[in-house]
Amino acid sequence: MKWLAQQAWLPGQTHGAWVSNVLLEADASGCWSAITPSPTPQQAQGASAVGWVIPGMVNAHSHAFQRAMAGLAEHSQRAGDDFWSWRERMYRIALRVEPAQLEAIATWLYAELLDAGYTQVCEFHYLHRAPDGSAYADPGEMTWALVRAAQTVGIGLTLLPTLYMHQGFGQPGLSDMQRRFASTPESVLALRDAVNAVARRAALGTSPQSAPLLNAGVALHSLRAVDAVALNAVASVVTDGPIHIHVAEQMKEVNDCLSHHGLRPIEWLLDHAPVDARWNLVHATHATAEEIRGLAQRDASVVICPSTEANLGDGFFELPQALQQGLRWSVGTDSHINRNWLEELRWLEYGQRLRGQRRNVALDGQQGVGSTAAVLVDSALRGGVAATGLPLGGLALGQRADWLELDTDSDALAGVPLPQVLDALVFSSPSPTWRRRAVAGREVVSAKHVYRDPFLAVMQAML
Ligand SMILES: [Zn+2]
Repeated sequence: MKWLAQQAWLPGQTHGAWVSNVLLEADASGCWSAITPSPTPQQAQGASAVGWVIPGMVNAHSHAFQRAMAGLAEHSQRAGDDFWSWRERMYRIALRVEPAQLEAIATWLYAELLDAGYTQVCEFHYLHRAPDGSAYADPGEMTWALVRAAQTVGIGLTLLPTLYMHQGFGQPGLSDMQRRFASTPESVLALRDAVNAVARRAALGTSPQSAPLLNAGVALHSLRAVDAVALNAVASVVTDGPIHIHVAEQMKEVNDCLSHHGLRPIEWLLDHAPVDARWNLVHATHATAEEIRGLAQRDASVVICPSTEANLGDGFFELPQALQQGLRWSVGTDSHINRNWLEELRWLEYGQRLRGQRRNVALDGQQGVGSTAAVLVDSALRGGVAATGLPLGGLALGQRADWLELDTDSDALAGVPLPQVLDALVFSSPSPTWRRRAVAGREVVSAKHVYRDPFLAVMQAML
């Protein structure tokens, strides 16, 4: 498989850059085996022509079922709507979704994500049990619905079976509305092993597509939901694959942690958990400069979900500190109120501008000089590798051959000169679109329209 790109976004010494006339070659495993700028005619023989190519993006945080409530929680019946009242509405959806419905929702969602240029999604999955709280005959019933959805669409999936044991700090057990989330360290580790076994079998198949499109890590729902003993029971046996945890999303959570443990959530994690490069802290919205320094020193990462954090009124992540400390970060769409990574990056930067009353905040890590979009895109790619544990770091040797061809006829790019195209891609809206997409070296043609009716049927049944 080889393509001759008119322009390709290749990694540079500090950040990426457009390079013209690049031969991109993927091997049978779906990873890049050769990347050759200005190839000879013989080298380029047999390559198919492609326009402007950039890497696919990782969506590092998803709860697929929440796609069914995007736009339905903006109409309030009372004053004082907040994260916690939103959560009550979310639980009502969570309590109703059957496995086949989850598959229909996730298939539609993943098709939307792939259309928008995500080529891998991390599914933070805690809907383990049946709506009445009983165990499914197969504990992976809901998990397999997500795996089938990703396989149907052709997007990569990092499944994160999620441990959820308590309704709050120091409280025994779950509330009745949380009954589907009930899990133990053993049950989530068993799900992780089951998914990895399926992934290994797929890799041994006859298909030439052997680059991993499916893998599993684990997730700990939050310090609210997982106590120290259970947290360490999981973390001590996970030697490979990512560990994700929601942390410090809301000030109530920070204050409850302070009351219970005498420490803020990230402080507590740094002191009591084996935080290292496996760890991805989702949100970390209310992280202090000291906590960000601590996470960077441990080589951990954070997952920022700008549109959901804005929608839920969470607060602003300390992006300038993270950039100055070299902390890795990725982006996720979480509740799926937005499903476009360009908009996530745009809002990440815009939030910081509104907050700090200044511009180009993403350049804080490089003395305010350079392309803001280049920093945002390259940082999110780097964070995506940490979030998935997979080689998804861009157009470079050994990385999975995920790429997007930019629609250079998009209105947002009209008249934009080459050096500013990435900036226009991220900041000029409505967002430009993609002409073609490939996952692990294989072009995926959008079939989103096929998945619309099953999704609409689920929405009709739920409303
Ligand atoms: Zn989440």
